Amino acid sequence: MTTPSTTPRTVLVTGGNRGIGYAIAEEMIAQGHRVAVTARSGSGPEGSFSVVADVSDAASIDAAFTAIEAELGPVEVVVANAGITKDMLLMRMSEEDFTDVIDVNLTGAFRVVKRASKAFLKQRFGRVIFISSVVGLYGGAGQVNYSSSKAALVGFARSVTRELGARGVTANVVAPGFIETDMTAELPEEQQAEYRKAIPAGRYGQASEVAKAVSWLASDDAGYISGAVIPVDGGLGMGH
Ligand code: NDP
Repeated sequence: MTTPSTTPRTVLVTGGNRGIGYAIAEEMIAQGHRVAVTARSGSGPEGSFSVVADVSDAASIDAAFTAIEAELGPVEVVVANAGITKDMLLMRMSEEDFTDVIDVNLTGAFRVVKRASKAFLKQRFGRVIFISSVVGLYGGAGQVNYSSSKAALVGFARSVTRELGARGVTANVVAPGFIETDMTAELPEEQQAEYRKAIPAGRYGQASEVAKAVSWLASDDAGYISGAVIPVDGGLGMGH
């Protein structure tokens, strides 16, 4: 049992019904925060307030914020975690597969953070944590759409930092490597073995290991950290 040692905040985790988002929500609850979770289906861990919302639809995000504000108060910490992959070699990737991934992973984060920024300015406080990927800066064969969407989050976080830094808002990026979730379970076993060989730690990560970095960025201790990219990847992306 973790001992809470930070100011309790209202936290929103997008894509919190499973995988990394679920683990982040669990960790935030353990730290004593009020936690809302959105996803297209299902619900978050016990103790969270779950709202069905699609990050590709601005009206659905607006409605989710309104429901969260009524239940838990204005959102102070946003974890933009919802994400998808549609892997394909460049020559065979359709424009739709490219724009769909950008729409959820990047424009989805824009919709959520834009909506949250209203309250941030009023509160003169806000924390944005983007869940990017090692692939954003490392690249990935068959992942032109995904790596572009994830790399862009770095520019996003740094622009928010420059725009809202003086208003008590920080924006950071967590870049996980290969984490055991539904997303990586879809990869062929051969490819999984290849990736494992390339990871200095010699293993995949756990969602809880990503959650610890995220909850630290939301804590009082991380108030002077903004525009940073924090890898949680067992050393895979070193030097990026
Ligand atoms: P999962 O595939 O397990 O979960 C994806 C989550 O995103 C689900 O909660 C899903 O909700 C939600 N989501 C997807 N599309 C939408 C949408 N349009 N609107 C709202 N919610 C949506 O993924 P992971 O937990 O593995 O990944 C979470 C994040 O971490 C992603 O951004 C991913 O890119 C990133 N990441 C993952 C890594 C890994 O190794 N697993 C490595 C690096 C980064 P629903 O179930 O309702 O569809």
